[in-house]
Amino acid sequence: MSIGPDFTKKVVDALAKRAAQICSNPDCHNPTSAPHSNPARAVILGEAAHINGARPTSARYDPNMTDQERSHPSNGIWLCVSCAKKIDKDESIFPVEFLKQWRANHEAWVAGGCPSKKGNQNKVVMRPARLKVRNEVKSFLHFCSTYWTMHCQGMVKGSNDLIRELHSFEKSVDAEGPLSIPNLESRIKEIIINVWKMQRLVDRLAGPNPRPLDSTYDTAEDNIDALVEWFAQQEKEIDELLEPYLTI
Ligand SMILES: [Zn+2]
Repeated sequence: MSIGPDFTKKVVDALAKRAAQICSNPDCHNPTSAPHSNPARAVILGEAAHINGARPTSARYDPNMTDQERSHPSNGIWLCVSCAKKIDKDESIFPVEFLKQWRANHEAWVAGGCPSKKGNQNKVVMRPARLKVRNEVKSFLHFCSTYWTMHCQGMVKGSNDLIRELHSFEKSVDAEGPLSIPNLESRIKEIIINVWKMQRLVDRLAGPNPRPLDSTYDTAEDNIDALVEWFAQQEKEIDELLEPYLTI
């Protein structure tokens, strides 16, 4: 009999019981079984979700894995139906290592007798919203640090693409609400100020009549180089700045 990528019933049962029939998302923790109107039955509201996707179209699919590895119990995580859907919507927010951490933390919590959240303040909780903002800040910094090069290669025109990207960056960060990370908000403000500086310099250098004899023209390119370097440096530092806040 050939082995498919799906979990067998035996594996599904084991994952549910290992999780004490509770969703492994630390911010959810909903029970995944409930009484049915028929006293002899129960309603199951959870599922054994794949960490590495079962099929090429699934989230976190790894083509180098075998179906035996995909259907292995170690590739599963027990979640409520709604969290199982959520983790497949955007794999950049719920990467493999992140889900493995959820499962390990959850099973340790169950093994410890499911202590109440109040009495367990030090519990490690991964933060999808913070992770999302970290990724967004990082990719925006990367965009800014390569903007001038893209401009010189004709891949972007003037400063329009820079400002368009800035607006969508501001919007998506705002959408996550207050993140309670000291220094992050001031860092973001600094990034925005420097983007506007960059916009002015790009416009001056790419304007219809750049005047090489104008002293401001000579310094503009130096200033752009300094800004590019600043964005690249921020991109390097952002992981270190935000890493401690992703797990508490
Ligand atoms: Zn859940």
